[in-house]
Amino acid sequence: MTSDGPGYDPSERRLTPLAKRLCRSIPAEGLSLSAYMRCCLLDAEHGYYNRKAVLGRDGDFITAPEISQVFGELIGLWCGVVWQGMGSPSRASLVELGPGRGTLMVDAMRAARRVPGFSEALDIHLLEASPRMQELQGEALRSSNHALSWPASLADLPRQATIVIGNEFLDALPIEQAQFRRSAGGVFDWHMRHVGVDEYGSSLTDEWRRIDRRARDHWRLPGAPTEGMVVERPDHGSLIEDIAALASEAPLAALFVDYGYVTGHGDSLQAVRNHRYEHPLTAPGEADLSAHVDFGGLAGRFLEYGLAVNGPVTQAEFLGSLGIVERASRLMALNPAKAAMIEAGVARLMAPGGMGTRFKAVGIGSPGLPPLPGFPTSQQES
Ligand code: SAH
Repeated sequence: MTSDGPGYDPSERRLTPLAKRLCRSIPAEGLSLSAYMRCCLLDAEHGYYNRKAVLGRDGDFITAPEISQVFGELIGLWCGVVWQGMGSPSRASLVELGPGRGTLMVDAMRAARRVPGFSEALDIHLLEASPRMQELQGEALRSSNHALSWPASLADLPRQATIVIGNEFLDALPIEQAQFRRSAGGVFDWHMRHVGVDEYGSSLTDEWRRIDRRARDHWRLPGAPTEGMVVERPDHGSLIEDIAALASEAPLAALFVDYGYVTGHGDSLQAVRNHRYEHPLTAPGEADLSAHVDFGGLAGRFLEYGLAVNGPVTQAEFLGSLGIVERASRLMALNPAKAAMIEAGVARLMAPGGMGTRFKAVGIGSPGLPPLPGFPTSQQES
């Protein structure tokens, strides 16, 4: 359905176990897009993140921490400097959102030991919805000698100084989509995307339901829409509210790194299976579904709660100002045999036109914290 992406080709459609179940169970009014995405990604039995090795060199996609250890190390040092900016509290929570295989946290912890007193002050919390991923994280962090917890939500965290980090987490959260299109009665109006079942009960279909007056308040719909225009709305659950609540009781900083845009974007929903894009209804549970992050909208939500927003800046600017080049050079000098690999990894993270610019970083701070490292101070809004 992506306007420039693949269409829904019936010959490619796979009746996966999850597709079969959905065909039997989808109610007459259809499933909202976010409910469909949640099911495809996190269903206990057939969800994408519970099924197989999706991350890393042998998986479907590779993320920054899996590309280079320098990424997690720099974020670990970032956390250490932020903690010092909080006045080096004797206890602090370090929370990672969607930690995948735990690689970022392992690298961050190794670097964190270089900041005196930091590592000892930390309680580590991993917010992870997939039991399979939780297992991988436990294995990766077993030797870190830190007590680990997997809270069900950020609302369960202790009210103490808190640092939250999330790499490629927000893009994995479900979205809703609205499109300006002709309704059955011929009138143009905004419709919300749903997933339904065809008349034979054997195949999933895209459905668009007109958005009623009251529901419109939840959308930021443009005033002069044109036919086919798509607006997206992320379903963050209570993430923003939970972060704001923590920040209202103790110092808090949060860092999100993800691919996304700052303003103006249409349909960004994508399904990737075996390194190929496909229509999101093609193979439920077997494709990675994700959407670009609306950094402008995200920043706006935090500003509404009185939190300071640093950035967004590109990943290349963020890592560059944290000293990625110096860190990589030192690592290469220490490991000459791995120098080419280290250099290639860093080049990939920084690539103009690639990860260096498609990915952005945004930092959130509670009022009164010094500007966060890695962001130009002129970019702090509060
Ligand atoms: N941060 C890791 C992994 C990114 S993939 C990295 O950079 O390598 C997205 C991660 O978020 C996976 O671990 C996935 O299981 C988890 N996840 C997806 N939706 C989630 C949700 N709603 N709540 C918590 N974790 C979620």
